[in-house]
Amino acid sequence: MRTALVYHEDMTAAQLLWEDPECEIERPERLTAALERLRQWGLEQRCLQLAAREASEAELGLVHSPEYVSLLRGTQTLSTRELQALSGQYDAVYFHPSTFHCARLAVGAALQLVDAVLTGAVHNGLALVRPPGHHSQRAAANGFCVFNNVAIAAKYAKQRHGLHRILIVDWDVHHGQGIQYIFEDDPSVLYFSWHRYEHGHFWPYLRESDADAVGQGQGRGFTVNLPWNQVGMGNADYVAAFLHVLLPVAFEFDPELVLISAGFDSAIGDPEGGYHLESLSQSVCMVVKALLGDPALPLSGPMEPHHSALESIQSVRAAQAPHWKSLQQQGSTPILNPSTYSLERRASPVSPGGPKFKAAEAQASAALSSLLDQLHLNPTLPVRTAVALTALDAALVLPADVLRQEGSAPQEETRAWARVHKALAQDKALTALGRVLHLLNGILDGQVSSGIAATPEPAAAPTLDVVIRHSLSHGARRLLCVAVGQLDRPADLADDGSPPPPLLWSGLWRANSSSPPARARSSPLTPRACSLFPGRRNLWLNIRGKEAAAPSMFQVSVPLPGTTGGFVSCVLALVLPLAYGFQPDLVLVALGPAHGLQAPQAALLASLLRGPAGGRVLVLLEQESTSQLAGILARVLQGEAPPGLGPFSMASPEDTQALIYLRGQLEAEWKMLQVAGEAGGARPRLNTGSGGSSSPQ
Ligand code: ZN
Repeated sequence: MRTALVYHEDMTAAQLLWEDPECEIERPERLTAALERLRQWGLEQRCLQLAAREASEAELGLVHSPEYVSLLRGTQTLSTRELQALSGQYDAVYFHPSTFHCARLAVGAALQLVDAVLTGAVHNGLALVRPPGHHSQRAAANGFCVFNNVAIAAKYAKQRHGLHRILIVDWDVHHGQGIQYIFEDDPSVLYFSWHRYEHGHFWPYLRESDADAVGQGQGRGFTVNLPWNQVGMGNADYVAAFLHVLLPVAFEFDPELVLISAGFDSAIGDPEGGYHLESLSQSVCMVVKALLGDPALPLSGPMEPHHSALESIQSVRAAQAPHWKSLQQQGSTPILNPSTYSLERRASPVSPGGPKFKAAEAQASAALSSLLDQLHLNPTLPVRTAVALTALDAALVLPADVLRQEGSAPQEETRAWARVHKALAQDKALTALGRVLHLLNGILDGQVSSGIAATPEPAAAPTLDVVIRHSLSHGARRLLCVAVGQLDRPADLADDGSPPPPLLWSGLWRANSSSPPARARSSPLTPRACSLFPGRRNLWLNIRGKEAAAPSMFQVSVPLPGTTGGFVSCVLALVLPLAYGFQPDLVLVALGPAHGLQAPQAALLASLLRGPAGGRVLVLLEQESTSQLAGILARVLQGEAPPGLGPFSMASPEDTQALIYLRGQLEAEWKMLQVAGEAGGARPRLNTGSGGSSSPQ
């Protein structure tokens, strides 16, 4: 089993014993509702289930003072009145006679998960716990948090398992100031938090939750705060923060373990910034699906970050640039005017029961049900990945659950394409093409999520051309092509990426039958409502081009970087922003002649490109590729983590210049490339193809 689920029903025992509107949202149903939904979705059964154990007092002592632990031990015998009085000494906390037991189970669950992952019993896992932990401090409970589960887990991983670099990612809507305080001078633990801040007007109202709090002493640069100063941040904002702040720093840090402080109070459907059971349960399920390797749902909504989000990203990049080379090299701009702080509490704009609250709740329900519709339209497929590899002895290295495809596309279909491309008419090439098309049809029909196919030698370029045309005529609305190596873009694709002229299509269809193939009318690929480019069908991205160039916004070329850092920057700062901005429904990764990628680089590229199109990725490999490369790619398409890239080496000045040049050329149209709130002056606009250009066929 790859994923552990740690839980204990005793953690539902603690509950509020008196009236307190602020505290009543932290209730036992948060666990039972999430667990119930995991069962309903069949996810619990797919996990290794572990019953949580209690953490020992020595383990609690890794973070908390002996006096505080002893105070908590004493709560087991207090009367309700005494519990209420003690609770009043802390900010937004309540105690119950079972709190000590529950909180020790919550810590113990996190420690068991660390053990299970670091001993190799599982790859990853989720501990379903309450009370939560990230606000808890050395000698203080805070914000429903009693013991700092994640902080203790990090200390334990260092002490028990000898780790030296641990990354903590905190995606709760509130700043986890407790974790920050515990590790602020410790360079072995990198703490990253994005949180609602509103210039200090959101709980916990702390100056040190802002972007310029970067840690202290030896720990400077190992606290990374990304404060949101406006509400309503969406997919584009989070993806931008992910690509332009978290991932560059994370790759440079190169952690041995990642701990996620996974609060779900920023999730869609939560009107109070509080604890919405339906939203929480769905969020837990989506995270477990991701841990199990299921492809994530494609993101919806306009892929254009808010101005306020870009200002936050700019601030944190500027504050962290002295500490992280990968942020220096992407052309950091100076920090903006400092925010004006006024840290007094403001009344919540949405009070329960009021008309605004009801409207927010109605909106939330609509958002949640549309998410469920999406899940319905994008079901988990029984077979994630198929391979069609003719010459490779791939059986030796493929995971057992990868489908080895035997069939091929119908002869007429294959031969029709071969008439267009003479190089495909030879026997071996024709057989290989039939298999490629069969696999592609499987993806377009929704029978399989992803695949790897070998292209016939020496016909890699014609095969790619056929795959592009076949995809666009058989249901793919937007196709992203990432071509690595010496592969030319099909000459007759229009500048705007629209499909080739109709003449060729009708000629081809006539070769088979009187009408287009049935698939073209009943494609299972689900359209996404929002795209910035409704009429644009193909984005061509060539890595290992001769030079950095963007003849149009749908045709981009960049040289292959020579270092691991340069490669990571190229993927994070160029490939993925374009990919998420384009919102493709299919991604094609073609490794052509002399592609020059090392196997871990190819794996990272394929793995990250599972994101933008809901896991629909077709990798085309040359027949001469090694079976080892095919095996690694099959694993990442199945959802396994790619192997490490090796020691991190910084991007060369030329590679950095290439990225800065392309960002300058493209960021006016491709907003996901932006890393600052203010664009750096007027730039020449590229050909956006809006004139309905025709191609020179
Ligand atoms: Zn929270």
